[in-house]
Amino acid sequence: MSKQVVVIGAGIGGLAAAIRLADAGHAVTVFDALPRAGGKAGIAEHDGVTFDTGPSLLTMPEVFDDLFRAAGTSLAEQVRLVDPVPAFRYLWPDGAAVDLHRTPEASVTAVSAAFGSKAGAEFERYLAYTKGIWEAANGTFVSGPAPSVGRLLRMGPATLAKFTKIDPMRSMKRAVESLVSEPHLRDICLRYATYNGSDPRVAPATLNCIAWVELGLGGWGIEGGLYALIAALEQTAKRLGVVFAYGEAVARITRTGGRADGLVLRGGVSVAADAVVVNADAAHLTRALLPEGIKPSSILPPSTSGMTAVLRAARQPERAPHTVLFPADYGREFSDMFDRDRPPEEPTLYLCSQSLAHGRSGWAAEEPVFAMANAPAEPLDGATDADGWVALEARMLKRGVDAGLLHATDAVVWRRSPRELAATFPDTRGALYGAASNDRFAAFRRPANSAPQLDGLFLASGSAHPGGGLPLCALSGRRAAIEAASYLGQP
Ligand SMILES: Cc1cc2nc3c(=O)[nH]c(=O)nc-3n(C[C@H](O)[C@H](O)[C@H](O)COP(=O)(O)OP(=O)(O)OC[C@H]3O[C@@H](n4cnc5c(N)ncnc54)[C@H](O)[C@@H]3O)c2cc1C
Repeated sequence: MSKQVVVIGAGIGGLAAAIRLADAGHAVTVFDALPRAGGKAGIAEHDGVTFDTGPSLLTMPEVFDDLFRAAGTSLAEQVRLVDPVPAFRYLWPDGAAVDLHRTPEASVTAVSAAFGSKAGAEFERYLAYTKGIWEAANGTFVSGPAPSVGRLLRMGPATLAKFTKIDPMRSMKRAVESLVSEPHLRDICLRYATYNGSDPRVAPATLNCIAWVELGLGGWGIEGGLYALIAALEQTAKRLGVVFAYGEAVARITRTGGRADGLVLRGGVSVAADAVVVNADAAHLTRALLPEGIKPSSILPPSTSGMTAVLRAARQPERAPHTVLFPADYGREFSDMFDRDRPPEEPTLYLCSQSLAHGRSGWAAEEPVFAMANAPAEPLDGATDADGWVALEARMLKRGVDAGLLHATDAVVWRRSPRELAATFPDTRGALYGAASNDRFAAFRRPANSAPQLDGLFLASGSAHPGGGLPLCALSGRRAAIEAASYLGQP
């Protein structure tokens, strides 16, 4: 007899868990409040052209290949990866510029050419350091179960040695400053904290491994847009018998004694289940979904949010797939967001040309260009300053126009502020990546994939272990499915 599993959310973590549990023989139904799959990895349309509104860079594609292979297909059969050339373009107001590439060697050569051979040597040393962290962290702390002090101690000296190698005790900024003296290069290295929505001044140096994931292992686009990956995951799930119910918000999880036994939809319909997987944010589980009488977990501070827009932008032959325009003082962006809790005064501008990065065709003379500025999460009390977000968007786009990256006539055809993100993804406060990793024990505090309060309740999202970003969310879904399958037993 197959067991009934309900999944709350069709984001990456929910899709990954659904595929694996259906493949294990269980009957899976996915409920999502939104009209389609993907969650934060969404799409929108303007004047006949569809574009991505969320992620623009795919790292660790092997995680998705593993997921598709579990379902009898492969990533290569489902989507075509696009190699961005150059990988990333970095610009500064003082005129400095560097293009990084898909191999560490090519990136080191480019850094030497832009900032001198000492900077090139520093970058090489930094990349070797980030590779070491990644190799120590990946198997045990990223792909394995959620870390705990007890588990670490039980795993013995070899794991403890790995723990030292991941450099958790100093901050990311301190580690970067000890390895890199060239100021522009420091900006590039510190920016990797924002891939996790964290503050490099306090996030553990372990997060430097994100640089290796992108620059050593590689970052890709997907032909036709990132959403092609979501569509392929949804189709694969359907082929395995997963049922999707869109436009269905879940009001509450139900229980019998200490076991989760289903959910109630906002319309009042009850759905019985043998296990519940929550792809919604862990904060939403705690604030809204847990059954009455169950002790909530503590809620961690959110990662950063983002002011995002898509422009119908005139094609520029000299554009790069991904461009980052730093401010004159990058450190101020972090003090604005994390110390003063306000949008950056001079925001770093990120642009993704969706034609170059994903082969999207666009309109006759224009292409969709995604623009983003990092922003603090929405305040807890919901007293948002909508004017503040409007002003941030204006500052972000003005920087692009002043630098010649955008034209004054490029039209914003879609936008989403942190306030709108917070409204779309309940209890997230607009965070892009779940909780921030703003203390050295963040990985230990992040919710594990089995909820401690209730048997049969599992977490698969960027707000649960091992964290945010597309591949980690898919790993979260994998881990939740492993733990749920073990709980449910053989179908
Ligand atoms: C603008 C932006 C840029 C990004 N850039 C990148 C990038 O380049 N590379 C990268 O790897 N990552 C990037 N990310 C992060 C990445 O998109 C996310 O980490 C990931 O998509 C989150 O997946 P998730 O599994 O946590 O689910 P989510 O996407 O958070 O989806 C959760 C789903 O649960 C549903 N839900 C919530 N509550 C309920 C309820 N009560 N009832 C029913 N349904 C509910 C929601 O509607 C949603 O569909 C970016 C994110 C954003 C927003």
